[in-house]
Order: sequence, then C-alpha cells, then structure tokens
Amino acid sequence: MDDRMFRNAMGKFATGVTVITTEVEDQVHGMTANAFMSVSLNPKLVLISIGEKAKMRDRIRQSKTYAVSFLAENQKEVSMQFAGQIKEEREFEFDWLNDMPVIKDALGVLTCNVVGEHEAGDHTLFIGEVTDIRLKEEVEPLVFYQGKYRELTALKESIPN
Ligand code: FAD
Repeated sequence: MDDRMFRNAMGKFATGVTVITTEVEDQVHGMTANAFMSVSLNPKLVLISIGEKAKMRDRIRQSKTYAVSFLAENQKEVSMQFAGQIKEEREFEFDWLNDMPVIKDALGVLTCNVVGEHEAGDHTLFIGEVTDIRLKEEVEPLVFYQGKYRELTALKESIPN
C-alpha cells in the first residue's frame, strides 16, 4: 500500500484540532496536533502522538508534562502558526492553567503529567494523566477533515417527537 492511500484514508476521519504546549527552562513551545484521544476514565488518561521529526517530542521528554488546548472555530490561524505554516515569526501570548502554558480562548484546556511513552513506528505516543481541566461554554470547535479546516454543523433533528 502506498503512502498516499494511507494519508487519504486517515484524512477521511474528521477530528478536532489541538495545540500541545509544554515549557522547558522557561521557554514555551507549542505544536498543532490532531492525533489526540481520551484513553481512560479511572485514572483519567489521554494520549497524543508526536512525529519523530517534531521538536515537541524531546521537549515533552524533558518536561514530562504537556497541556492540550482544543481550538475554537475562530482559531484557524493559531493552528497554522503552531503547525509552522505561517512563515513570519509571531509573538504569541499564552494563557496559564495549573502553571502550564495553554492557548487563550480555546474551548477546552487540560494539563497532564506524562505517565507512559511508547515508540510506534515514526511517532511516539505520550500517555498523560490529567491534572486539571478548564472549559469554555458556547464555543464551537475547529474541525479538520480531508486536509481542510471546517466548521461543525448540527444535523436537523430526524426523529419525530
Ligand atoms: P516548530 O516547527 O519549531 O514549531 C511549530 C511552530 O509553532 C513554529 O513555526 C512557530 O510558528 C510556532 N511556535 C512554537 N512555539 C511558539 C512560541 N512559544 N511562540 C510563538 N510561536 C511558537 N504532528 C504530529 O507530530 N502529530 C500530530 O498529531 C499532528 N497533527 C497535525 C494536525 C494538523 C491539523 C496540522 C496542520 C499539523 C499536524 N502535525 C502533527 C504537524 C505539526 O504541527 C508540525 O509538523 C509542527 O511544525 C511540528 O512542530 P515542532 O515541534 O517541530 O516545532
């Protein structure tokens, strides 16, 4: 199977968009990621998958902590910035939760301690135990599908009352 077929197939799975953040020696680093999932309720565990070429991988290995910010529908530029898709260098004003840098105005933010690390091909899976959560109500998510950013639209109620 060729790489394009695999990429196309994975692109058929719609996701939200997150920015992973961590701090090493007072330097904040952020990276856009959609490979995020909830893993366990008790204990509360989540998972992210970071590519071997991403600088974020070694930064999380050093800090042993990371935060996940779920981007809102008006934060496409934030996603592009932390994916390295905006060429000029831009300052970014981070917000803070539990002494960790997070993305301001994200619709959900959680902080984690790394409790597991697994090599998986050319990516590394970091399991995080959730230490804090902050949510914003009445904000819609940014959606990523087939390589494009989208908005979420509710389906019309199809079951008659
Ligand atoms: P860099 O390339 O150094 O950082 C990325 C960019 O973030 C920088 O160019 C800079 O603009 C900005 N930035 C970082 N820190 C700061 C700061 N303190 N202040 C201001 N700006 C800052 N890759 C994965 O490994 N896993 C995924 O799940 C994943 N999902 C993705 C989903 C989407 C929708 C997209 C678009 C990309 C995804 N990527 C994923 C790719 C990943 O976002 C890029 O490869 C990214 O550039 C890798 O970042 P890096 O850690 O190497 O750091």
